[in-house]
Amino acid sequence: MKTYLSKFTLSVSLVVLLTSCAALKTNNSLSPILIEASIDLENVVDDKVKITISPSALVSDEIIFYIPQIVPGTYEYSNFGRFAEDLKAFDSKGNSLTVTAIDQNSWKIAGAKKLQRITYWVNDTFDGPDGSEIYPMGGTSFDTDKTHLLNLHSMIGYFENLKESPYKLSVRSPKNLQAFTSLPSISISDSLDIFKADRYFHIIDNPIMYSEPNAVSFDLDDIKVGLAIYSPSGKHKATAYQPAIQEMMLAQKKFLGESNNTPSYDILLYLMGMDDLQYFGGMMGALEHHTSTTVVFVDQMQPAELTQNLIDVVSHEFFHTLTPLNVHSEEIHNFEYNTPLMSKHLWMYEGTTEYFANLFQINQGLIDAPDFYGRLFEKVNYGKRYDDTMSFTEMSAGIVDEPYAANYGNVYQKGALINMCLDIIIREKSGGEKGILWVMKNLAQRYGNKKPFQDADLIDEIVAMTYPEVGSFFTEHIVGTTPINYNDYFSKVGLVEGETEAALPAVIFKDAQNPVFTPQDFEDKGRFLVITGLNSSLESMGLKLGDVFLGLDGKMLPEINQENGAAINGVLTQSFMWDAEKEFTITVERNSETLTLSGKVGTPSALMSGIVEDPNATDTALSLRKAWMFN
Ligand SMILES: [Zn+2]
Repeated sequence: MKTYLSKFTLSVSLVVLLTSCAALKTNNSLSPILIEASIDLENVVDDKVKITISPSALVSDEIIFYIPQIVPGTYEYSNFGRFAEDLKAFDSKGNSLTVTAIDQNSWKIAGAKKLQRITYWVNDTFDGPDGSEIYPMGGTSFDTDKTHLLNLHSMIGYFENLKESPYKLSVRSPKNLQAFTSLPSISISDSLDIFKADRYFHIIDNPIMYSEPNAVSFDLDDIKVGLAIYSPSGKHKATAYQPAIQEMMLAQKKFLGESNNTPSYDILLYLMGMDDLQYFGGMMGALEHHTSTTVVFVDQMQPAELTQNLIDVVSHEFFHTLTPLNVHSEEIHNFEYNTPLMSKHLWMYEGTTEYFANLFQINQGLIDAPDFYGRLFEKVNYGKRYDDTMSFTEMSAGIVDEPYAANYGNVYQKGALINMCLDIIIREKSGGEKGILWVMKNLAQRYGNKKPFQDADLIDEIVAMTYPEVGSFFTEHIVGTTPINYNDYFSKVGLVEGETEAALPAVIFKDAQNPVFTPQDFEDKGRFLVITGLNSSLESMGLKLGDVFLGLDGKMLPEINQENGAAINGVLTQSFMWDAEKEFTITVERNSETLTLSGKVGTPSALMSGIVEDPNATDTALSLRKAWMFN
């Protein structure tokens, strides 16, 4: 998964600023039982959809039916069973069988030998009760004849010991909507689509998006890529994003070399209105699957902004085809949806993935060196929000519970930096020849998607194929609790901390994390936002320190207080979606006069601390830097 909050977390912090002040079970059922499931999207009642599940003859007297508590890639309890209501079981004559709820995700059915079907209604997570706790990219949305996003783990369940049984899935849908999914189909028509799945995991590994046709499909060497977009405003067309996705994925394939053998890859891009996204606290991002990914962003983003976000997030998801999809432990291979055991290696599943999503961009020339250094520096800074003395392996094994869960976000920050350090150590020791990508390719060859590794043995295996220094790093900083001094690693490649003119996340920022204004109280008048910092774009529009900030692009700020937090964010966050071409105005009060300044967003930048190239770097450091970034 890649959760993406950066700028939108900042919007939350703007308001804060204002207040300020299972044990592995073996499934040895080889029975040929077929599970038929059906979903009726044509008759949505009270925002709920009816599901019917019919197993072919069962042999036990009672059976448990489950909807997952947790699914791969999310690293948190979701309890999808709570979205199901009114679960009933029937025999072939239509008589009810006794159903007893065991907990919110499981139901015991008596007289199972006679069971012909179970039926239940599911709420969607986008506006259903407690739905805000579910990442939207792993959620469901039912919106009559506009769109339906089906993450099937929240809709379809499985029977005890029958996770390996094949499924046949029928979906009735409004005539104007088309299904977009990597789930294999048996037949597709206007109003009834029939899909098949090898086993339960296959069902939930292939989300389906129904929307009016807005998709492209193209071949990249030997991989078939699909991109489908649901855009509520209709302004984002799949054809417009094809070139950027194509360039990015070609670069990824070049970076990965032979180790990638994904036959097809589908991108389901679900855009939400800013107001709807507020329900999830601004959470956006994507969830990985073997042959597809579901991505959620804001519809109001301008094309250039959306393109860069797509590149960062979709490349992360596609790198998941390396790990965990092709390099994973038994805990992931035999994933238990209702009694999960977690692996210790999030430093790899998420950390390596996120590191590669940045490294490949400099390696393949999609970004320049200052941008790459800026991304690393941002990770060093964002990593400071989390517990730096928490063992990464211990955190990973306990990630679904506190205090580990609150540190999950660090897998994208420190997790990526751990890989940078390992990469630099291995490059240094191998004379620039090998790096962490070489390690991952070897692991993928040794294991692959069908053969899991032993969780406890992975580190020893990596050390055995590399150097003792790699072992010390694992012992001290990944298993151990000693924080990493990143400057030690930056200096090996001739980089130092220094002042640099760097691009800002949005036009209202003065540095990577802070806005250009600060709340200040004025006697009798109340609280106002005063300009206390500038950037290149705002300076050229004529904004001055000390100006009182009144409004942005025609939208005026309400009174600055906690109750108005959402409305204040509404005025400010519009700027997060602007691209360089956007023209806008900023309204301020200066010397008791109201002024409206106007200009273009451009590429706002400011002088700030960051990572820069050391002019005194040794030749050894320079050649190591080159090997690290470009080999
Ligand atoms: Zn991820």
